[in-house]
Amino acid sequence: MFSILTLKASGSRSVKPLILVACRHYKVRKKPIDIHAVFHPRNISRQPQLYDYFLVLDFEATCEKSNQAMNCFQQEIIEFPVHKVNSNNFETEAVFHSFVKPVINPQLSNYCSSLTGISQVDVDNSLELSSVLEDFDRWMTNNVVTSEKSFIFVTSGDWDLKKMLPTECRDKNIQMKSYFTDYVNINKSFAYTMGKWPRFGKGRIPAMLALLELSQIGEFHRGVSDCQNIISIMKSLADKGCVFKPEENT
Ligand SMILES: [Mg+2]
Repeated sequence: MFSILTLKASGSRSVKPLILVACRHYKVRKKPIDIHAVFHPRNISRQPQLYDYFLVLDFEATCEKSNQAMNCFQQEIIEFPVHKVNSNNFETEAVFHSFVKPVINPQLSNYCSSLTGISQVDVDNSLELSSVLEDFDRWMTNNVVTSEKSFIFVTSGDWDLKKMLPTECRDKNIQMKSYFTDYVNINKSFAYTMGKWPRFGKGRIPAMLALLELSQIGEFHRGVSDCQNIISIMKSLADKGCVFKPEENT
């Protein structure tokens, strides 16, 4: 663009043509940017991933409808799903799934049940968090840790592993395993690959699926299907050259 301006300036008899060109230049610069044209895949092919396995995790927790009620409400995890995904083909090789019995507010609100599809019977028939974490640790030993392969957790947002699990473990005096410390925030992976944040209005996962033109799997706000949708998003981002990194590196 500078060379065009220089050419016009040197060939013009007055300042006017230069101003017109400059205005046109300004208008072009001010046009809305097609974010996809700019940021959409720089590498339009799969890149080697940093980890052998992704452990895709999405908790559901007790909740109330109003923000006012939530202000003094202590949430507890009620669904604990983890999908072990092979980073070569993004296929699920094993699944851990358990409902969790809440003890501070053992009765699920109608809002919570209708949002998550999780019933009172589901949680009444399940174990408390400390026992579910022990089961999960055994699953990790049998399915992940002993394979001597590298792995990293993947979640949508920071809530699951930065807030919910550490807070509940602290409040219930449960020792949280160190393998939960590092994770990939898929929302950030999406932003870095696509050049924009998924709009929050209808939730990050629905927004990412829509922007990537992917079909919804199952119901939103149900942990096990949220995991499947996250995997679908990961696969699509990987096709666009995304390499998934732990949160602090992205
Ligand atoms: Mg969820």
